[in-house]
Amino acid sequence: MTSLKPFHTFATDADCQQLVTIYSGQDLFRYLTDREASFMILGGGSNVLFADDFDGDVLLNRIKGIEVVDEDDNGLLVSVGSGEIWHNFVMWSVGHGLWGLENLALIPGTVGAAPMQNIGAYGIEQDKTFHSLEAIDLEEGTRRIFYKEECEFGYRDSFFKKEGKNNYFITKVSYLLSKLPDPVLGYADVASRLEGKKITPKAIAGEIIEIRTHKLPDPEKIGNAGSFFKNPVVEKNIADKLKESYPTIPCYNAGDQVKIAAGWLIEQCGFKGQVKGNTGTYMNQALVLVNHGQARGNEIYQYAVSIREAVQDKFGIELEMEVNVIRK
Ligand SMILES: Cc1cc2nc3c(=O)[nH]c(=O)nc-3n(C[C@H](O)[C@H](O)[C@H](O)COP(=O)(O)OP(=O)(O)OC[C@H]3O[C@@H](n4cnc5c(N)ncnc54)[C@H](O)[C@@H]3O)c2cc1C
Repeated sequence: MTSLKPFHTFATDADCQQLVTIYSGQDLFRYLTDREASFMILGGGSNVLFADDFDGDVLLNRIKGIEVVDEDDNGLLVSVGSGEIWHNFVMWSVGHGLWGLENLALIPGTVGAAPMQNIGAYGIEQDKTFHSLEAIDLEEGTRRIFYKEECEFGYRDSFFKKEGKNNYFITKVSYLLSKLPDPVLGYADVASRLEGKKITPKAIAGEIIEIRTHKLPDPEKIGNAGSFFKNPVVEKNIADKLKESYPTIPCYNAGDQVKIAAGWLIEQCGFKGQVKGNTGTYMNQALVLVNHGQARGNEIYQYAVSIREAVQDKFGIELEMEVNVIRK
């Protein structure tokens, strides 16, 4: 058995049968030909909770490389190895003065996991600049290109979390980055910090790094996987009803529907900053569940279930877990 503790950001004790590092598509094909056990893919482990040990092999994605594939006066197309660290890629892009990824600075994890849940922050989701990806079909052992429409991107969602779940290993992702200014400054705290300053991709990324460092727990110091739940999206009439009972409930337009801040719902149920055994929620953000050091994965999972039940009882809303929970 091999310990997974150093390979995921909740840093709970969990074992797998064997850890296999994948550096290339060839490594993966070789593994698929010879494999004997079931397996799962792990990038940076920043969006998983091992509620149990994993009874199989874990493939650690370390496929590297950043390659400019095409360029004109407006921008460039760049193809990135899926095992590159997402934040390093963002810093590469802002370092070249390119627009499109700056608001997504400091999101942990790998490039290959970014399309999985269509990562997003500060008014941008990765599908804004996404062009295509290359994946290996794990059943057929063949390579396939997916263009944007085929990925069915949505809020923290994609084809790879639905029909495509566990069927593909994403090996490369391509983004179209712009040379033309396109700042997204809808968040007041970002805009106010930039007042009077020259607005560049690097400047925006710099402010976002500072805000995130202040707001979110550093997984190196306190185990967590960022937001544990998705913000629920409900019909307008349900949101209106909730507003009558809770006038301060934070609601945002989401097309014909309304998105409600999950952190606020959890906070209203009394969980913010709570310490429960070895787990709890982060003091500054109730949406982030933490490992206070010695938590078992199942303890965090059971705590998450208790939060989900409390929110359901109080507001009649079912929270969906954003984190990928690994259970037997
Ligand atoms: C402090 C903190 C802040 C965060 N902030 C944000 C945020 O602002 N916005 C946001 O959207 N997310 C955020 N997250 C969540 C997380 O960073 C992202 O979901 C990230 O994309 C996960 O990348 P990873 O490589 O760590 O994925 P992992 O946790 O390793 O894997 C996640 C899932 O994707 C699958 N997977 C991984 N790589 C591949 C691949 N190459 N091919 C196929 N399947 C694959 C895994 O099997 C697993 O199911 C945050 C997490 C933390 C800890």
